[in-house]
Amino acid sequence: MGLRVDLDLKSLVRTVPDYPKPGIMFRDVTTLLKDASGFKSCVERLAEPFRTAGVDAVIGIEARGFILGGAVADRLGTGFVPFRKKGKLPWSTVGQDYELEYGTDTIEVHEDGIGAGERILIVDDLIATGGTAEAAIKLVERMNGVTVGAAFVIDLPDLGGAKKIQQMGVPCYSLIAFEGH
Ligand code: AMP
Repeated sequence: MGLRVDLDLKSLVRTVPDYPKPGIMFRDVTTLLKDASGFKSCVERLAEPFRTAGVDAVIGIEARGFILGGAVADRLGTGFVPFRKKGKLPWSTVGQDYELEYGTDTIEVHEDGIGAGERILIVDDLIATGGTAEAAIKLVERMNGVTVGAAFVIDLPDLGGAKKIQQMGVPCYSLIAFEGH
């Protein structure tokens, strides 16, 4: 199937006001993923900047990052490594805590998930404050991998996450942006 050249990815994202709590505009990508041209366009455009970057593996962040990251890995001809919420992976893991608005969370990877010197691309559906992506980058670093970039379908620039990732020295790409939270 060919791509619609005039495809407006933004119009394919469903916005759910006040989910999961009042004041949050939840950007629901399931409507975008369901659209064949929309999904294909996302995967192509997320992979494109990294075609010649020598990526060894794509990591996807649970859960929507798995869908996009797996497809991007296939497109780049690399392996895929899941970064999961605490307690979900079956074998020995390495974890990284990160701050949430209330409390902390942890992402984990299998201890053999990333080898020393491996060049890693991080993929997720959306970057907001950048806390999750920052934790992923730190985890890659602790395993002696090299994060060559981070790619997202959606950026919420008002929350400053992309800027934070750039300031860590990691190129940060996104396909569309929404104002506000
Ligand atoms: P952050 O760590 O603040 O950059 O948040 C990024 C993670 O939270 C991603 O995995 C997103 O899927 C999710 N997320 C944060 N804000 C939103 C939002 N407004 N709509 C949908 N998902 C969000």
